[in-house]
This record gives sequence, C-alpha cells and structure tokens, in this order.
Amino acid sequence: MRIAVYSTRPYDRHFLEQANAAARHELVFLEPRLDAATLAAAAGSQAVCAFVNDRLDAPVLRGLHALGVRLLVLRCAGFNHVDLPVAAELGLAVGRVPEYSPHAVAEHTVALVLTLNRRIHRAFARVREGNFALDGLLGFDLHGRTVGVVGTGRIGACFGRIMIGFGCRVLAFDPQPDPEVQALGVAYVALPELLAASDVVSLHCPLTPQTRHLIDSAALARMKHGAMLVNTSRGAVIDTPAVIAALKSGRLGSLGLDVYEEEGDLFFRDLSGEAIRDDVFARLLTFPNVVVTGHQAFFTEDALRAIAQTTLANVDAFEAHGRPVHPVSVERLA
Ligand code: NAD
Repeated sequence: MRIAVYSTRPYDRHFLEQANAAARHELVFLEPRLDAATLAAAAGSQAVCAFVNDRLDAPVLRGLHALGVRLLVLRCAGFNHVDLPVAAELGLAVGRVPEYSPHAVAEHTVALVLTLNRRIHRAFARVREGNFALDGLLGFDLHGRTVGVVGTGRIGACFGRIMIGFGCRVLAFDPQPDPEVQALGVAYVALPELLAASDVVSLHCPLTPQTRHLIDSAALARMKHGAMLVNTSRGAVIDTPAVIAALKSGRLGSLGLDVYEEEGDLFFRDLSGEAIRDDVFARLLTFPNVVVTGHQAFFTEDALRAIAQTTLANVDAFEAHGRPVHPVSVERLA
C-alpha cells in the first residue's frame, strides 16, 4: 500500500524503513505537518501516517478522503486530535499504537521529577560556569513523600510502580481503578484528596472533554503549598495561565512539562534562531523552577521501533481484513 508519512523526521524514516525491510509498502516521506495546505501531497496514497501535531479535523479528513485515502494510521497512542465522528461518516479507518513503551514515558516523567527536585538543570549550568555553590539547589528525599498519579493506565501504572520503588506513598485517581495497581500498594482516592495530600502530582490521563483543564486554578488551590506538578500526558489537561499564576504566587513549587496546549506551533522543530511568538510559553521558560522538554517522553529506540512495527501491522491488517489491528472508533470518545 502507498502510505504518505507526514511530519517525518530522520528518526521516523529510519525506524519505518527498518520495519518495512521486506518492502511490502511504498512509504512516501513528507517533512511538513499535515494540514489543509499540505494534504494534497497525499494524492495517490491509500493511507496516511500522522503524528501528534498533525491536523486531523473535519476539512482535512474530508480532503484526504476525496483524494482516495481510506486509512489513517497514527504513530502515537493519543487520538484526541482526530475528528472521529467525521472519520466514521466517511468510512475512513483509523488505527493507532496504543502501547509502544509505557516505560519510555514513565521513565521520562521520573527524569523530570528528579531534575526539578534536585535542581539538576541549574546545577549543570552552574558547574560549567565554575560555580560550585549549593545555595538554591536544596531538594527533598522522595523516600517517604506522597506522589499522586492521575490516570493509572499503562503509563500511570508504570510510573506508580517506579515511585513505589523509591519508597514513596502513592495515591491515584482514575474513574476506572485497576486492581493490579491497587495490589502494588497504590491507594485510589478522589481527585481533591489526591491534590491536597501529594508532594508530587503527575498527570497520565488522556485528553478528553472531561480532562481538558482538569488542573485549573481551583485544582491548583487544592494542592499542597510548594508541591510539584508534572505533565507528560497532553498539554490541555492543564490550564497554563492558571499554572503560571500559581508559580508566580509560589503556591506551585515546581513544574515539569513534556507537553503544552499550543505545542503544535513549537515542538519537533529547531526554532533556536527565531523569537518565540507564544508569550504564555515564553513566560513559562523564565521560571527557574520550570523544566520543559519538547514532547520527547516517548523518544527511546525501543519505543520508535515498536511504533514503526505496530504502524505497519495496522496497515497490513487493513489490507488483509479492512480493519487495523488497533482501530480507533467513535465509541472511544465516550
Ligand atoms: P491509557 O489509556 O493506558 O491510560 C489512561 C488512563 O487514564 C486510563 O486508566 C483511564 O481510565 C484514565 N482516565 C480517563 N479519564 C480520566 C480522568 N478524568 N481522570 C483520571 N484518569 C482518567 O493511556 P496511556 O498509554 O497510559 O497514556 C496516558 C497519557 O499519556 C495519554 O494522554 C497519552 O496521550 C499520553 N502520552 C504521552 C506521550 C509523550 O511522549 N509525552 C507518549 C505517549 C502517551
């Protein structure tokens, strides 16, 4: 099958070509993001392969369908950016990679927690300047502290397991508690209780209408004074201006982000020679107690290999049976 692969970076190409070693599919690698202006490049392809910041709204889906595209394969787990009702109406099949490496994202989350707590970002810069003073670098023992996990699916469960290994007390909130997670020693509580008791709050829920701005000014007001907030899920789960206000007042002790609500215009590109036009994002970068990574939590060799293999397996299954191995349907929005 001919597949137009949007938002291609060299690493995507490398792992997709490896997974396609038997050359069963014709991969057309396209660097631009998919949107109304770039969709014409999919002409002649029966499938489109897209990533997290590609535009998959109604006009783009209709445009792709008109070009003859019948399958959309996402190189990611999240599908909040796809207009699923329109895909269903068009009969456009959608596949995703539900699990590639929960460890990749969970371990990156731990990296953010440790960096913020022990001020590794500041220590790194200081030592290179010959400044070995410790003032301002004071952290706390994670052992014995309370960590709140919002969403205990694949990634949240993995993160919770690691934090239990650190000797933390782990609380969780999830509308669907998992007995296996409970068996690890994780205690499920209501969200307000989790926010009030946790020294570290880590977000691992999907972006849905219910979780959009889940962490708003009211939720931040419930958090322990000086607590740490980490978001590696989706940017819009937090209300960024509210978080900035909480950082300014000192109520929020530190913030680790791998995702940002408006990341589509920023991430996965080298903008080091340009002015950042997003003032909210630029303000975030001014805080010494904020660490931002550019949606790299998934970025391990293991994860990229698994993403490429599952993506092509979705195409194989669609070719053979008219349905990807991991379909995404409108029901999943409920
Ligand atoms: P998952 O589907 O396995 O788990 C999500 C969990 O969230 C489920 O247990 C679900 O019941 C729970 N949930 C749903 N609504 C909730 C709510 N209102 N409050 C609390 N919990 C809720 O998903 P996953 O694979 O663990 O992924 C989790 C998140 O991580 C997703 O948002 C995904 O988009 C994101 N993600 C980020 C990266 C990255 O590179 N930063 C990579 C992969 C996934």
